[in-house]
Amino acid sequence: MKTYKAYCFDLDGTVYRGKEGIPSAITFIHGLQETGIEPYYVTNNSSKTREQLQDALRAIGVDAPLQHIYSSALVTAKYISLNFAGQKVAMMGSDGIRTALFNEGIELVDTDPDVFVMGIDRTLDYMALAKATIAVQNGATFIATNQDIKFPTEYGFLPGNGAFARLVGEVADVEPTYIGKPSPAMLEVIAAEHGFTKDEMVMIGDNYDTDIMCGINFGCDTIHVNTGVTPTKIVQDKELQPTYCMEALV
Ligand SMILES: [Mg+2]
Repeated sequence: MKTYKAYCFDLDGTVYRGKEGIPSAITFIHGLQETGIEPYYVTNNSSKTREQLQDALRAIGVDAPLQHIYSSALVTAKYISLNFAGQKVAMMGSDGIRTALFNEGIELVDTDPDVFVMGIDRTLDYMALAKATIAVQNGATFIATNQDIKFPTEYGFLPGNGAFARLVGEVADVEPTYIGKPSPAMLEVIAAEHGFTKDEMVMIGDNYDTDIMCGINFGCDTIHVNTGVTPTKIVQDKELQPTYCMEALV
């Protein structure tokens, strides 16, 4: 395999499954670090802050610098501060998106927003969904951190932010703008902030529709691993193929 400067790892189903680390990925990451290459982590999970994701990685034996951890929440906040400066923003979601918006200096409003941001809220109630649909119907630009309908856990699949964003979009008759993978936005931010060219980067993930398509949409190499959502068999039938298809990383 070619050597890259920026190895960008998906997290769920690639580096860990729930609270359990995936040994082959951890061994591969340690191997990179021993040769002086510090990987990047790119997750559609919008519920956690950079610090919380760093803790989750540390718990499975992976030390990661904060500046190498990118979530859809973090990149959504950067996208809003770049494209909607000074506009009124309302949100639903958890710590991850709330902290990211705060860190970008974005002030939140409760009513009549110009932009409505949706990340996953695991304490979701009907009123929160009702407020979201009203804001979007009234013309707020609808931005969702990610479009994942479901995500794998140690218990099975659970509903993801995409399931709720789709619900709001259906009611309001508006298609959300999604920032997470397969949009290339997260890889674009890594390339810009750390000064990489596309041929120096590789996207590694278990989910063809998000991880592999994110790399393909961005224009860098991709590695599919058979440790999570999309089985290798399904990937092999796709028209656009990843650069490498592996059972596991080592
Ligand atoms: Mg994954």
